[in-house]
Amino acid sequence: MASEPECLTCGACCFSQLERYVQVTGADYERLGERAEELVSFDGHQAHLRMVDGHCAALRVEASSGRFVCSAYEARPQTCRELARGSPECRAERDAKADRPLIALSRRREA
Ligand code: SF4
Ligand code: SF4
Repeated sequence: MASEPECLTCGACCFSQLERYVQVTGADYERLGERAEELVSFDGHQAHLRMVDGHCAALRVEASSGRFVCSAYEARPQTCRELARGSPECRAERDAKADRPLIALSRRREA
């Protein structure tokens, strides 16, 4: 039905220039387990996934395979779980940011 690509070849929704992008609730923090300290940043009582180079710190941009891999997939926050591939939200993410993962990938390959 949807013309969207596989998420592993897209990655758009994991990109943002915002410092506070994906909210992390108490339940999300628990689920992240031993990755929580590395991946979550706090601002007062608010917690969000840490952002690095314009994308979520959990995202691996793989130069060799050209894939965008969520390294915390099984434990990802609820916000990520709710964004279904092919949904209007997914399409909006791709419309706004589809170029960013490709730019990140070519930078990674040049490094
Ligand atoms: S924007 Fe859509 S197709 Fe791309 S990674 Fe996110 S859910 Fe998957
Ligand atoms: S936790 Fe995974 S799915 Fe969610 S924004 Fe980060 S890399 Fe993307």
